[in-house]
Amino acid sequence: METLYRSTRETASHTMTSSQAVLQGLTPDGGLFVPVDLPQANFDFDKLATMSYQGVAYEVLKLFFTDYTEAELKACITAAYGNQFDDVAIAPVAKHGQAYYLELFHGPTIAFKDLALQILPHLMTTAAKKNHLDAEVVILTATSGDTGKAAMAGFADVDQTRIIVFYPQDGVSAIQKQQMVTQVGDNTYVIAINGNFDDAQTKVKELLNDQDLRTQLAANEFQFSSANSINIGRLFPQVAYYVYTYAQLIKQGHLKNGDEINFSVPTGNFGDILAGYYAKKLGTPIHKLICASNRNNVLTDFFNTGVYNKNREFHLTSSPSMDILVSSNLERLVFYLTGEDPVQTAGLMNDLTTTGQYTLTPAMRQQIVDFWAGFATEGQDQAEIHHVFNEHHYTIDPHTAVASAVAHQYQDATKDMRPLVVVSTASPYKFPRAVLKAITASDVTVDGLTAVDQLHDIIKTTIPATVENLRTAPVRHDRTSEPDQMAAAIQDILNLK
Ligand SMILES: *Cc1c(COP(=O)(O)O)cnc(C)c1O
Repeated sequence: METLYRSTRETASHTMTSSQAVLQGLTPDGGLFVPVDLPQANFDFDKLATMSYQGVAYEVLKLFFTDYTEAELKACITAAYGNQFDDVAIAPVAKHGQAYYLELFHGPTIAFKDLALQILPHLMTTAAKKNHLDAEVVILTATSGDTGKAAMAGFADVDQTRIIVFYPQDGVSAIQKQQMVTQVGDNTYVIAINGNFDDAQTKVKELLNDQDLRTQLAANEFQFSSANSINIGRLFPQVAYYVYTYAQLIKQGHLKNGDEINFSVPTGNFGDILAGYYAKKLGTPIHKLICASNRNNVLTDFFNTGVYNKNREFHLTSSPSMDILVSSNLERLVFYLTGEDPVQTAGLMNDLTTTGQYTLTPAMRQQIVDFWAGFATEGQDQAEIHHVFNEHHYTIDPHTAVASAVAHQYQDATKDMRPLVVVSTASPYKFPRAVLKAITASDVTVDGLTAVDQLHDIIKTTIPATVENLRTAPVRHDRTSEPDQMAAAIQDILNLK
């Protein structure tokens, strides 16, 4: 059955194929693409348990990307999940203590976004061919640190594409910044913004919807698209690792087919955990999705009070990829909570734009049965890294630690001891200063790469190649911009007439 896509904000009369939705990114009305009808999966987990990551990914992706041929989809998967990952399992599941850790940091930028951004460029260029698109695709991305680098790693030197990344000047870790400014590829552009991630993301959304700019691009044979986590070409590939994890736990003898498990997900833009929600909707036996936030706990309040309110202080934390006050993908959940009502969804999103907040109806709140939410302070985050290392000789990064800490809160509050998977989104070597500080319980004043070496002396695990390479990589990008000058920066880069 074909899966077609519609907007969260408009009646289902305008639909697009999956490849068109991948190219488009956002819907023309500013909403997000969702399947008109959810595909029927009928997963046979005993069979999936015998498959490779690539095999499981195909079983999942073929449900969502139905206008790609089998050969096209398999080519995308092969190109995305190959030896750029340093573990053949791609997304290995490890047990430490009572918890399982789904390690999503074995890709080229050592954070989970690689799982989506290694495949998106291939889904996109295949889509461009299928739709006879001659214009060059210009990827515009705002990043809180990991997306931008992972997107560039995916798109670098991919034909008929360019990628422009905006990141908050002071909102990313030293290693993240270095990864960004040393990015290779003649089609990559990196711009530091004097503002925070939300400033950058709001502006990028605006620019993607700017009709005058789009017209100007078209006249110059360019077309915008987005690599942000709202693109279905990023969202749905993430469903694969939830399904794969469940199958792996069966294979490893930890579960019987049908047993329920919980996932704790360190959450920012709500893309990762939303993929888990789709995995559940497709029939993966998931009991709860635990939405774990850092001090920017707008989602914790949302789930616990039904009010989404971004009017609050913004905190820079040691888990910067979760320093977000507007979680774009939440709109899709809201859409489902309304019973797929685009008018009501558009109304709530309009409230968010005009007042910075919206309130769910009691009926909508009753629909939130699949989630549990909590947050960890900086102190709790540090304590969790310290604790897991001391108890299990396993090192987790500050994002993973948020999920791990909130998982304990969940188990303490509910006494639910179903097997629990902590979604582990970054390598500790990506945030060496924060991890070193937590493990040694003392202040760290050294720079990022020195911290990497000091951390390595303690934890002994191999330093990923991508970190080693930073030691000698030349700086290639030094542009900066004010948020209100971003359009001008794009016009300049693309030499628009
Ligand atoms: C992006 C990111 C997250 C948050 O994921 P969302 O899909 O934005 O909720 C968590 N951890 C790390 C390391 C990330 O890069």
